[in-house]
Amino acid sequence: MEERRKSKRMELDSTLVIKRLDDNSKEEIRKFVPESYAKTYLHWLNGIRDWCISRQLWWGHRIPAFYCTKCGKMTVSREDLTVCPDCGAPVTQDEDTLDTWFSSALWPFSTLGWPDKTPELDYFYPTDVLVTGYDIIFFWVVRMVFSGLEQTDTTPFHTVLIHGLVRDSQGRKMSKSLGNGIDPLEVIDKYGADALRMTLVTGNAPGNDMRFYWERVEASRNFANKVWNASRFIMMNLDKADMGNVSLTDLTDADKWILSKVNTLAKDVTENLDKYELGIALSKVYDFVWEEFCDWYIEMVKPRLYSDTDSTKAAALWTLKTVLIRSLKMLHPFIPFITEEIFCTLQDEEESIMVSEWPVYTEELNFAAEEKAIETIKEAVRAIRTVRTSMNVPPSRKAKVFVVSENAEICRIFENGKVFFATLASASEVAVQADKEGIADDAVSAVIPGANIYIPFADLVDIEKEVERLKKEEAKLSKELARSKGMLSNERFISKAPAAKIEEEKAKYEKYQQMMEQVQARLAQLQK
Ligand SMILES: [Zn+2]
Repeated sequence: MEERRKSKRMELDSTLVIKRLDDNSKEEIRKFVPESYAKTYLHWLNGIRDWCISRQLWWGHRIPAFYCTKCGKMTVSREDLTVCPDCGAPVTQDEDTLDTWFSSALWPFSTLGWPDKTPELDYFYPTDVLVTGYDIIFFWVVRMVFSGLEQTDTTPFHTVLIHGLVRDSQGRKMSKSLGNGIDPLEVIDKYGADALRMTLVTGNAPGNDMRFYWERVEASRNFANKVWNASRFIMMNLDKADMGNVSLTDLTDADKWILSKVNTLAKDVTENLDKYELGIALSKVYDFVWEEFCDWYIEMVKPRLYSDTDSTKAAALWTLKTVLIRSLKMLHPFIPFITEEIFCTLQDEEESIMVSEWPVYTEELNFAAEEKAIETIKEAVRAIRTVRTSMNVPPSRKAKVFVVSENAEICRIFENGKVFFATLASASEVAVQADKEGIADDAVSAVIPGANIYIPFADLVDIEKEVERLKKEEAKLSKELARSKGMLSNERFISKAPAAKIEEEKAKYEKYQQMMEQVQARLAQLQK
């Protein structure tokens, strides 16, 4: 520090900063995420000037400079002085305070108890990652680095993760004058801290600004609810069988499929997190939990849980619990509160999810064949659902499903997977066969890779009712046709009505005729 006598302002000599950073090489600061922000950092260093650190503010750290009331000597001291070290006369302390950023530069170590040698400082310092906004790279980041080097001889972190700013839904910066600010506490009151945190990570990439939409917070809250409900369902069923002796050989294809999926997920998500791709990591866990686990697996295992005779019930429960625990651990960084709450209720093996073991990929849980089998079944279920939806068939109406394939492996997959079609695709029965034997010509079909699926028309549609409906339609149409024909053969109408009106009536007549042909063709088909 050097005193500028005239104004009594303290300035930090930039050569000190440069020396400190050069001694440790500029590379010490190492990594910026995204990398492009290293430029902002170096730009500041290359244009560095002395920095006035005196502020005429009443808050902040008082400048540790003491002036002798007699000889006028200035002494800068770590300890507070009362008398001049030269002449022993009383001293007064500088009235100014340190610039906020000068004080903030001490943050990485002063928060850990520095200058005392505390256990926290010893354990946590130097830290790993600084998370901050791009707008304060030169105000704060650079200054923390050289302050760390000056006071502790080390850089306070090795990586700087830059996040964007949260803007309003129109992309404007939130400000008091615009009145477009969002109070995080209000969001938390309405939707919970987990929902807010998750919203800020969703779809976000390091360094990019994001827009704030209430709808997104709501969607995050809905996801948290989904996790909560699935967990409650699992916990309610856990006492239905003793899971103590379950081994990998007891597992069904579906169990192995979901375990294999969550296993691969752990590898992928860990890779994304290591690269600070938080938004991508979250979307992978989100999709897995919502779609694969809740919408598919839990629905697939329900018949096993509800059956009194199913010998794989314990395996199903063990799988549910195992996959839920792994999912919760991967969700914990994004929705910490709800995951901790569920985790502590669900299991006794680990004390808190915060210090639990992170899921790690293991070759033992890689089941490629079973994954392929269940994906094939999912494909078939989706095809059946599409057929039923397009024909407006209510889920309550059960229909027989024929799977036709000459591929023995595919037939085996469907033989093993028959059980799923009842709950997932409203099937009354599933027949797996190599040819079309016994399948009526009017069966509705759908194609999936390696197999054709047929559903008897009569199973999807109540023929008697349909015939009745078509006959009513036929009667209505023949009345309309007669009326229209009468008009068009009425000479007074033809000679007096405007041409447009006549054309309109002719078009109607043609339309009714077409509809009549369709209705009659349909009737003929149904009454064969
Ligand atoms: Zn003195």
